[in-house]
Amino acid sequence: MSRVVVIGAGHNGLTAAFYLARAGLKPLVLERRQTVGGAASTEEIAPGFRVPSLAHAIGPLRSSIVSDMRLESRGVTFIRPNPRLVALAASGGALVFAVDHARTAESIRRFSSRDADRYIDFCQTLGARVIVRGLRAATDFEYELQIAHANADLRPQIDTIFMPTRTKHGFVSASLVREIASHGGDVSRYAPAVVCEALTKKFAKK
Ligand SMILES: Cc1cc2nc3c(=O)[nH]c(=O)nc-3n(C[C@H](O)[C@H](O)[C@H](O)COP(=O)(O)OP(=O)(O)OC[C@H]3O[C@@H](n4cnc5c(N)ncnc54)[C@H](O)[C@@H]3O)c2cc1C
Repeated sequence: MSRVVVIGAGHNGLTAAFYLARAGLKPLVLERRQTVGGAASTEEIAPGFRVPSLAHAIGPLRSSIVSDMRLESRGVTFIRPNPRLVALAASGGALVFAVDHARTAESIRRFSSRDADRYIDFCQTLGARVIVRGLRAATDFEYELQIAHANADLRPQIDTIFMPTRTKHGFVSASLVREIASHGGDVSRYAPAVVCEALTKKFAKK
């Protein structure tokens, strides 16, 4: 049987090699760098700060690949950060793209009211009709309702749907996790592995 050689261990090369191996072939992956992952690799840019060195967000990823590779049981966690994107300006301000359109529009307004006014129109051209927001407790609801009303006022065509979290996660918050970690507690059941690692390093230094 002829040998398959995959040039480059970026995520596409690695995925191809996975499926080739699963089909019974013995692919050889050749990578010129010291690390695998290509543009999707994570690197430590300063002691304790591990970040994606190039691609910062995940593009379209077939869910069948996630389950075929059993990524989640191998410790991969998919996070949906909010804000999704922050661009720091040299002048000291920041352009913040939050999950919430109204909040993003307000951030854009600091730079351009015209663009801010058009932002929700722009989102609509992408086909956004529904905003899904997670609720941990009744206290979240008050704040989220205010945002939902603002969105409805700005664009009545876009609906907001609230989704309660699972009961077991209802009490988890960033400040709680930080507090436990600051006392050396184990937060692995509340936060992804990469966050736990960063917290351990951060509080170990103090
Ligand atoms: C600035 C920038 C930002 C991006 N941001 C995002 C993002 O946020 N989200 C997103 O989904 N996509 C993003 N992309 C696109 C994404 O990076 C690519 O779609 C993705 O990296 C393609 O994966 P790949 O495995 O095909 O190639 P790569 O990730 O480029 O990997 C190719 C690998 O092959 C190796 N290689 C190349 N030539 C040889 C050789 N001759 N011999 C041995 N090894 C070799 C390289 O060292 C590398 O490791 C971004 C791209 C750029 C340029």
